[in-house]
Amino acid sequence: MPQFDLRDHCRAIRSELLAAFGEVLDAGQFILGPNVSAFEEEMAAYLGVAHTVAVNSGTDALILALRGLGVGAGDEVVTSAFTFVSPAEAASLLGARPVFVDIEADGFNLDPGRLEAALSPRTRAIVVVHLFGQAADLEPVLEMARLHGIAVVEDACQAIGADYRGRKVAAWGSAGCLSFFPTKNLGALGDGGLLSTSDPALASRVRALRVHGSGPKYHHRMTGYNSRLDELQAAVLRVKLKHLEGWIARRIEIAKGYDERLRAAGLTEWLILPAHRTYGRHVFHQYALRVLSGVRDALREHLAKKGIGTAVYYPVPLHLQEVYRGLGYRLGDLPRAERAAAEVLCLPMFPELRPEQQDRVVEEIAGFFKTRREGSRHSGSCYLQQPREARGQSALPRGPLGA
Ligand SMILES: *Cc1c(COP(=O)(O)O)cnc(C)c1O
Repeated sequence: MPQFDLRDHCRAIRSELLAAFGEVLDAGQFILGPNVSAFEEEMAAYLGVAHTVAVNSGTDALILALRGLGVGAGDEVVTSAFTFVSPAEAASLLGARPVFVDIEADGFNLDPGRLEAALSPRTRAIVVVHLFGQAADLEPVLEMARLHGIAVVEDACQAIGADYRGRKVAAWGSAGCLSFFPTKNLGALGDGGLLSTSDPALASRVRALRVHGSGPKYHHRMTGYNSRLDELQAAVLRVKLKHLEGWIARRIEIAKGYDERLRAAGLTEWLILPAHRTYGRHVFHQYALRVLSGVRDALREHLAKKGIGTAVYYPVPLHLQEVYRGLGYRLGDLPRAERAAAEVLCLPMFPELRPEQQDRVVEEIAGFFKTRREGSRHSGSCYLQQPREARGQSALPRGPLGA
């Protein structure tokens, strides 16, 4: 079984999608038409924000958010070291310098306790990422930003529908950014993204930026971009938005199913299950385990041999990426992010995953650790004999990082 499968997903709503395509074809308007406007309104209502601007991708939403907030050359943008590259890339493209913060000891999101040390007089924005579908702890981040007069942008690309203290993510910061990449919890049939904000001036700047800095048409106020959501994708997303809550409920059920099965199989000796936060709903874009004792890659290989797809999000923390070598970070600078990169393993997760498939995933994981345990008894020297002690000492990623 794959780690993610879109075929069943599309099949279930095929006739609805085809009807939507037909309407767009008949209307003959493909850029910034009625579906984009309607989708923007529906998303504003869903998120509980005043304004949304549909754009070309989640990455573009981040670029336009930072640009709209005035980030430019010489500024610093603080973000998590353990995430997809986009927040840092957006800062770099605007001539700003990304500054990386380590993650929580017991989770995968930015540690608010480490934020202050990363701030400088040049810090212009903090991009807080809600990784894997779980909100980051926003209140201390917003408070720190307020004290220092810095903007907060939420990267909610993996967390549509997640909430924090009763309000949706992407509705807390100066701006929120969503991605509709096909595998995201709300995915288009191609690229797409959206920016949310309650600031009318920011919304208006971003609306201009997405159409070449213009408004009215052919009157250019600033250097902008061509970054629009297609009318066809908006029509698809409007169909899919109606199903989103049902799909999220399935993801939560599947995560609970993994928790229960992994516990029942006695595997918490070797694995750390996803943390549950009391402050808000986790929408499980990914079910991300930590595999202790340095056997993550061996487990992944074992599962692959049994036909079970898994994913490593992300194998290299941002501060150690080749592209950021010039920033001067060293291995060991952000040890929690480095450890997460070596330990994280994402199990199959999509709304159509069946209970018997989950049974198989957990059986095969149990099989892997059973043979390891027996092997260690014979050799008498395996570090797996004391898995809990090995916590925090697992091997660092190999390859470019080991050098
Ligand atoms: C997917 C993703 C992005 C980028 O979204 P695109 O639509 O692919 O540009 C940014 N940040 C995070 C955390 C993501 O998962």
